[in-house]
Amino acid sequence: MIEKDYIIVGLGIAGISFCEQLQKHGKSFLVIDSGAKGSTAKSGGVFNATVLKRFTAAWNAADFYPFAVDFYGKLSEKVQKEIFVKTPILRIFKSVEEQNNWTVASDKKELQNFLSSEFLKNKNPSIEAPLGFGEVLGTARINAEILLDEYRKFLISKDVLVSENFQYKEIQQQENSVVYKNISAKKIIFCEGSKVVENPFFLKNAIIGNKGEYVIIKAPNLKLDVMLKGSMYVIPLGNNQYKVGATYSRDDYSLDATEEAKEEILSKVKTFINCGFEVASQTSGIRPTTKDHRPLLGNFEENKNLIFYNGLGSRGFLMAPLLSEILYNHLENAIPLSKEIDIKRTIKWK
Ligand SMILES: Cc1cc2nc3c(=O)[nH]c(=O)nc-3n(C[C@H](O)[C@H](O)[C@H](O)COP(=O)(O)OP(=O)(O)OC[C@H]3O[C@@H](n4cnc5c(N)ncnc54)[C@H](O)[C@@H]3O)c2cc1C
Repeated sequence: MIEKDYIIVGLGIAGISFCEQLQKHGKSFLVIDSGAKGSTAKSGGVFNATVLKRFTAAWNAADFYPFAVDFYGKLSEKVQKEIFVKTPILRIFKSVEEQNNWTVASDKKELQNFLSSEFLKNKNPSIEAPLGFGEVLGTARINAEILLDEYRKFLISKDVLVSENFQYKEIQQQENSVVYKNISAKKIIFCEGSKVVENPFFLKNAIIGNKGEYVIIKAPNLKLDVMLKGSMYVIPLGNNQYKVGATYSRDDYSLDATEEAKEEILSKVKTFINCGFEVASQTSGIRPTTKDHRPLLGNFEENKNLIFYNGLGSRGFLMAPLLSEILYNHLENAIPLSKEIDIKRTIKWK
């Protein structure tokens, strides 16, 4: 029998950040991941502490943000790749009212470090932005695909990655441990993203899959090296390619590319980009969202050694680093989880 402190199921940003906590504290672990691309791989990789629809700070941004910046800096050093690329976001103003709202917001304590009070004029002839831009500060683009590839290689080099679909029937629960096949661990941490709805130990409707689609365009005349936020994001990928999107479609778990999403994205992007472009490809992923827009951490009473770490919604990169520490401290140091993030609140959602 192989003995480990933890088994982690799923290697997206939740799994990676929890692995980092375990290594920091010298705990042993094994990761089981199917290799299928989850939400982390399919995301836009936008790291942003604000909500650009309403010009507010994201939930708990003041705590999540500094912790995450430190985390990605250290992780970049560890994998020896630039996975956290500081890149501004320019938010196109749609009206004078929006400009006024931005000015009021940028003066607020919680947003001072994130919303620049100076407006930028548009100098790019391929962009329609007569009222200019507000600049979001402290933002970055996370190269999620590179991070995932490098982290997999790192785990393989330590001989702690098993590439398989987790078999729930193979679990044997004991008082202070759980056995999976020939591995015994104190706990299993399920970091399965939207796939968790297939987990028989989970409360099915606690996660709502929210499909997001992107169109990748090739636009040689766009010449954009910042992230642009109009009615859609335009995210530079290099080589004149841009990721444009994403859509939101509730309760959709299929990864098929849809014509509706493509049409929606292209019609929206044409309202603020006037140069020609070609569609190169289309991609989609499923966000693991919850009905109260808060993460789900911890266990249900009846299966105390089966732990869930989910509900990262559309802000996984910002929240995961600190949530991993909170979960670790809960499991190892008996620090209670706040009701806001404790999975036990979902029992009422049955
Ligand atoms: C289109 C789109 C755009 C997004 N853009 C952004 C963005 O710009 N910024 C941002 O912060 N967030 C963004 N998000 C949200 C972000 O991607 C998620 O919050 C986050 O990645 C969720 O991470 P996770 O680790 O919980 O799940 P995932 O990334 O889905 O990871 C789960 C992993 O577990 C594996 N797995 C699941 N079940 C099993 C099993 N039974 N056995 C073995 N392996 C299993 C899966 O294969 C996968 O590798 C976006 C999401 C989408 C879909």
